[in-house]
Amino acid sequence: MQVTEIMIRYGELSTKGKNKKYFIKKLLKSVREKLAPFPNLKVDANRDRLYILLNGEEADAVIESLTDVFGIQSISPVIKVDKSIDRAKEAVISLMGRHIEKGMTFKINTRRADHEFEYDTNEVNRILGSAVEEAFEGISVKMKEPSLTARVEIRQDGIYLSVQTIQGRGGLPVRTAGKGMLMLSGGIDSPVAGYLSLKRGMEIEAVHFHSPPYTSPQALQKAKDLAAKLARFTGPIQFIEVPFTEIQETIKREVPDEYSMTVTRRMMLRLTDEIRVLRKGLAIVNGESLGQVASQTMDSMFAINEVTTTPVLRPLISVDKNDIIAIAKDIDTFNLAVQPFEDCCTIFAPAKPKTRPKLAKVKEFEAAIDVDGLIERAMARLNVERITETDNTLDQQSDLFETFL
Ligand code: ATP
Ligand code: MG
Repeated sequence: MQVTEIMIRYGELSTKGKNKKYFIKKLLKSVREKLAPFPNLKVDANRDRLYILLNGEEADAVIESLTDVFGIQSISPVIKVDKSIDRAKEAVISLMGRHIEKGMTFKINTRRADHEFEYDTNEVNRILGSAVEEAFEGISVKMKEPSLTARVEIRQDGIYLSVQTIQGRGGLPVRTAGKGMLMLSGGIDSPVAGYLSLKRGMEIEAVHFHSPPYTSPQALQKAKDLAAKLARFTGPIQFIEVPFTEIQETIKREVPDEYSMTVTRRMMLRLTDEIRVLRKGLAIVNGESLGQVASQTMDSMFAINEVTTTPVLRPLISVDKNDIIAIAKDIDTFNLAVQPFEDCCTIFAPAKPKTRPKLAKVKEFEAAIDVDGLIERAMARLNVERITETDNTLDQQSDLFETFL
């Protein structure tokens, strides 16, 4: 028998009290966007659940798409049948059959909204339980912690049966929290920081600094491809490319080596903040993790952060590298991130950056460069591009990789 619909449980969103309606509306919107490739579906929500009528679409493919949507706690494939006990038997056997192994235990858990139905809940449990025991050899009923639970709901319009509960991605629906500017490099960390921000409902736009001809077109493409990987969870992402060559050359020339990294980061942060104003964002997000490299010590962050009072969110600040890598693998950004296309920071990196920069010194060195002019010229040449989930150029050009590997 075919799965006829999919039931979605909301999770954390259901604790939202008066705002619940707003969150459900946003979730409904992200579900509809994500499921756009399936034209026959009908999506509907109430206060407690979201339902998707499959109308012949394939359940597994739909469920797979749903596991990319934030704000979903769990997902169950459901078979709806007419209000006949024989049809219910067939359905429960069909659903159980997909998961059954010898020695398994199970129970039937029936709820009855329609009290006119000819059997009460205990009778339905018993009748369906015996049917399952008869159909599958070596499985038995167990009330406490069985391996499988078949949920049966008898409603006015039919009987709804489900067995499997698939874990959703959790979090809150995207675009419920406001917009943040994600500083997106080509590395492992910043895409993960972006993912975690999306997971809490933030909308993100990506800001990427690049320095041609010192950085290659592939390095830029890699950052765009990483944005495409994030688009899987949120829909299209605006990718803002910032020309950074003049700034890096100036810093290289005018600022003592050990302070060049600090000044470079301050310039990046100033520019990201200007872009944030332009794009009406409320925060800046980056992939910094405490102690990872010289720019990520407390002293460095203090000296760099001084250029703005805008919240700079660092979702990875206390996450170990191995745990960051595990998330990067889960969201499929890892393989791309480790491709060897150098970004602007690596190329201009000084041999011995200061791990404890002094703010007074930083300001003294910055006085030698035309900060405002440099920012103005970079801002005049921003390039904004909309990146979608399928804009994955490097993934499709494996021959291009081979020349680098
Ligand atoms: P990542 O893996 O994200 O590149 P990282 O550990 O290599 O991080 P850094 O290169 O020091 O650390 O960068 C720290 C953060 O600064 C990055 O996580 C990112 O948010 C931002 N950043 C660095 N380079 C760029 C760039 N070229 N464009 C945009 N943001 C950048
Ligand atoms: Mg990096």
